[in-house]
Amino acid sequence: MPQNEQFASDNYSGICPEAWDHMAQANARDDSAYGDDAWTQKAADQLRERFECDCEVFFVFNGTAANSLSLAAMTQSFHSVICHEMAHVETDECGGPEYASNGSKLLTGTGPNGKLTAESVEELVTRRTDIHYPKPRAVTLTQATEVGTLYTVEELRSIREVADHHGLRVHMDGARFANAVAALDLQPADITWRAGVDVLCLSGTKNGMASGEAILFFNRALAEDFEWRCKQAGQLASKMRFISAPWCGLLENDVWLKNAAHANACAARLEAGLAGLKGVRLSFPRQANAVFVALPEQAQARLRAMGWHFYTFIGGTARFVCSWSTTPARVDALVADISKAMAD
Ligand SMILES: *Cc1c(COP(=O)(O)O)cnc(C)c1O
Repeated sequence: MPQNEQFASDNYSGICPEAWDHMAQANARDDSAYGDDAWTQKAADQLRERFECDCEVFFVFNGTAANSLSLAAMTQSFHSVICHEMAHVETDECGGPEYASNGSKLLTGTGPNGKLTAESVEELVTRRTDIHYPKPRAVTLTQATEVGTLYTVEELRSIREVADHHGLRVHMDGARFANAVAALDLQPADITWRAGVDVLCLSGTKNGMASGEAILFFNRALAEDFEWRCKQAGQLASKMRFISAPWCGLLENDVWLKNAAHANACAARLEAGLAGLKGVRLSFPRQANAVFVALPEQAQARLRAMGWHFYTFIGGTARFVCSWSTTPARVDALVADISKAMAD
């Protein structure tokens, strides 16, 4: 693949310099295994400080495991988890949440722009209350969503209200949480525990690490015995310092938010570039680091023939994702090529 000829996903990007540098620092000497090392302690403390909360922190390899294991910690096998119909847990985790929980069923709700509404949650909880139906116990929200939109604080609070009413726990899939914080210009706490989120899965991978996600239990009671759950699932890294050290690289000087703000700005530049093209329209409002464009099939084929990599998403829309490594020059080159691809 030629240099940065891709807008496929933020996980196509490499390791950002700060994460790389901290990997090298951790590699300077031998150290204790299984998270019993200073890097892991430091990364967890930095997360607690940044989130202004004495939460329980765990590190795992990837997002599917983070979501699946944390949701399993919030439910029993006869419970159900409410999510948006486009949620990654429903569409892209191969039944991982159900598997990790020994069967907690996902119930899919709806809402415009990839956002679950409080009404939809209410409808799913009250539709059935009999013993033959899995009892709703948790709701999971993706921030930023799968279609690159953002839940506002008010929307999060309204979900929390329904959750309180029906005894649901609130989980957040934060694969692009940093992009949401940067775009909303709020504190991480404002859109998590202060808005009623019990557990957050926070991605390092999509932000600029090689691999590694943090799970933050703001509701500490839910973290009981969680380390055993991780170990049993094969998610306890023996050389955990190589996950936690790069986290320190991301957290020091708020590099994670700088990476996210850069990716968001590149997406905004792409949005602005496309606004000048005839016949091009966005399928969803651009609010974070992804731009969804309703491009005709032929134009998409032409773009691919020019060497661009991107996903065709729900309903045939082309998805362009920016990351820490995206450059404004590549954004401009993409806009120019989309313009060419759209010409008759
Ligand atoms: C990327 C992503 C994940 C994590 O996926 P893994 O490939 O398992 O790391 C989770 N949720 C969303 C919304 C994602 O985009």
